[in-house]
Amino acid sequence: MKRSKFLSLCIAGILTASLFVSCETDNSNEEEISANEISKDVLIKLEKAHFSTENAKMINFMGEQGVAVEDMFFTFDQIDELSQGISGPLQKQYRTTNLVTGLPRLIKVSVDPALGNLGSDALDAMISMYNAENLQLTFERTTFGLKGKKKADIEVTEFYELESGGFITLGRAAGFPTRKGDPAKGFGINSRWFELLNPSLAEVTGTMAHEVGHCIGFRHTDYMTRESCGQNVNEGNAGVGAIHITGTPTISDATSLMQACGPADSFNNNDKIALDVLY
Ligand SMILES: [Zn+2]
Repeated sequence: MKRSKFLSLCIAGILTASLFVSCETDNSNEEEISANEISKDVLIKLEKAHFSTENAKMINFMGEQGVAVEDMFFTFDQIDELSQGISGPLQKQYRTTNLVTGLPRLIKVSVDPALGNLGSDALDAMISMYNAENLQLTFERTTFGLKGKKKADIEVTEFYELESGGFITLGRAAGFPTRKGDPAKGFGINSRWFELLNPSLAEVTGTMAHEVGHCIGFRHTDYMTRESCGQNVNEGNAGVGAIHITGTPTISDATSLMQACGPADSFNNNDKIALDVLY
């Protein structure tokens, strides 16, 4: 969601995010189990990695069981990995420990037809948005649902999750790059968002670009404070797997596409610098 984008959108029309949606779902892609079943150990690991666990919940997502926090989903193995490396000097934002390797590299992406023409058009626009930056990652569309080696590197799936507490989760990324240097396997887009708020192509494209940002190693620009979500968390201890990218601000950047809850739908100059530095 851009609340992650945790993006969550306030239904009142203010784009702030909260991803935290505790809700019932009725879609096969996502099934809420029970937030109460998350062990303290797991919550502590997530908090040490600077995720807000306020609305953390256990779900099945993209075929695996794990925990949804902000606009991210992590399996328990991924949570263990996040919690490693919790030492060292104070680090600031932006990227995760693992990045996509094997550059230059072609990244194939696909979108679930359940997201309709809007999802399809947004995928194409998102691909153009990244390719316009002339990175060492080149994005290319492929057919959804392919198996094995033909499978897309990043799959965009559909999930249906009701709004809660005035917020709706727009998208949810399945983690960050793997230790092997592959992108996260994909992200979901909430079709309830389409139904409820009739978003524009630019909004859906921006959310997809934000979630792809997570898949290739971007954390939220304001992950230390979450101020774009209307929170003011001041955590002075060392970040985990969050390494500042040279040439970008260490303070909040209100127009960054990677703000936790920001309204941006395109890369700002610092996002472009960050992409350029990493890829
Ligand atoms: Zn996000």
